[in-house]
Amino acid sequence: MKNVTVVGAGLVGSLWSLYLAKRGYSVDVYERRPDPRKSGRAEGRSINLALSDRGWAALEQVGMAEAVRKEAIPMYRRVMHDVAGNLSFQPYGKENQAIYSVSRGGLNRLLVEAAESHPEVRVHFGHACVDADVEAGTATFSADGETITSTGTAVFATDGAFSKVRAQFQRRDRFNYQQEYIEHGYKELHIPPGQNGSHQIEREALHIWPRGKHMLIGLPNPDGSFTCTLFFPMEGPTSFDALQTPEEAEKFFQEVFADALALMPDFQDQWAKNPVASLVIIRCSPWNVGGKTVLFGDASHAIVPFYGQGMNSGFEDCRIFDALLEAHNGNFETAFPAFSDERKPHADAIAELAMRNFVEMRDLTAQPEFLLQKKIEAAFSAKYPGRWMPLYSQVTFSHIPYAEALAAGKRQEAIMQTIMARPDIEATWNSDEVMEAILAQLG
Ligand SMILES: Cc1cc2nc3c(=O)[nH]c(=O)nc-3n(C[C@H](O)[C@H](O)[C@H](O)COP(=O)(O)OP(=O)(O)OC[C@H]3O[C@@H](n4cnc5c(N)ncnc54)[C@H](O)[C@@H]3O)c2cc1C
Repeated sequence: MKNVTVVGAGLVGSLWSLYLAKRGYSVDVYERRPDPRKSGRAEGRSINLALSDRGWAALEQVGMAEAVRKEAIPMYRRVMHDVAGNLSFQPYGKENQAIYSVSRGGLNRLLVEAAESHPEVRVHFGHACVDADVEAGTATFSADGETITSTGTAVFATDGAFSKVRAQFQRRDRFNYQQEYIEHGYKELHIPPGQNGSHQIEREALHIWPRGKHMLIGLPNPDGSFTCTLFFPMEGPTSFDALQTPEEAEKFFQEVFADALALMPDFQDQWAKNPVASLVIIRCSPWNVGGKTVLFGDASHAIVPFYGQGMNSGFEDCRIFDALLEAHNGNFETAFPAFSDERKPHADAIAELAMRNFVEMRDLTAQPEFLLQKKIEAAFSAKYPGRWMPLYSQVTFSHIPYAEALAAGKRQEAIMQTIMARPDIEATWNSDEVMEAILAQLG
């Protein structure tokens, strides 16, 4: 039986080890963090995540979807909060289509436990990768002052955006690498449960407080609380830098996010305690060195979180890689480069889509014209199903390759610009004439 090495038992690494075991490999997974079940440590960044169709499909394939579904909360629509606390709503998709709020720690634990329960998977916590021989397909780990080197025939590097294994790729000729910090960072804040564990704002929704250059979002947790994330410039007149004290931050929230602040009784403590973190985009290629070492998940394509697709795309990597292993009869020498070639354009596309969605979330969702445009698109798509799938649905509720979704989205946007420019659009948006004008442009 072929023995292989996985570096990083995060979301993608733990899922991928399950795929490998299912294919009959013997798998050693090395994770830098201590075993969270023994250390009781908090779970790292972003407490909850939005899981959508691409992620579900990948979980389904290794029989994990049901277990995850039990702990997930569907979010059927966006609820936008304006400065005065007025609400507006936008469904995510068709009736019953939802994205799901899941706990990062809970999901990671489920996947690690499922992997560990497989007789051919061994998860070694507290093992930090310190080096890798990417041509040999081995990695070296430090644990309790000792150094060990993996013995498997290949390395799957799923050690995240700051991958230690990727650092070895960067020393090689003709490896392309780009790392970009965006202007915004983030801080998490918490809305506690109401009485008897109730949710204080609509439970099955993703809440957004769009404010132009920045925004706050909130995702529900099963215990009645919400995890909120403030996406905010790191520097400048309105920025984390400018809000020097918790008192200043509270004053700012009072002006800009008053209804959210009213639900955070310990705001100042949270502000002082919770760190500010940066957001980085990683682009690189190729993702493999022969059939010996391959990068995937955030290690090869970290993106900003605004489309809720980082984990979902990493999970999709697993499903696609698995299909390629099948197609290549388990031949790593041909499957690894095929994966890199096939997947890279789609990773670039979702990176672009994610940045575009930031503008949509923080700015456009607050504009009536944008909401009208989305209503027209939904009406057209309902009238001519098959002729128009909104871009958000292509990305979130389908398996259309990301680059195709991006191209179709650009075409749709160009058509909608002409429709929105019609002088009487507010009165006629649902008319046959408008629907036919869209149809004509689609050709
Ligand atoms: C604020 C925020 C919100 C997000 N929201 C969403 C969302 O709603 N939906 C979504 O799909 N995605 C979301 N994402 C993206 C998502 O978190 C990532 O895409 C996902 O975690 C990538 O999984 P991964 O396993 O590739 O990397 P990671 O989750 O980073 O896991 C890497 C693992 O490798 C381990 N590791 C690192 N270095 C070493 C080493 N040297 N040796 C051994 N182990 C090591 C780490 O400890 C970790 O366990 C969000 C990200 C952020 C920052």
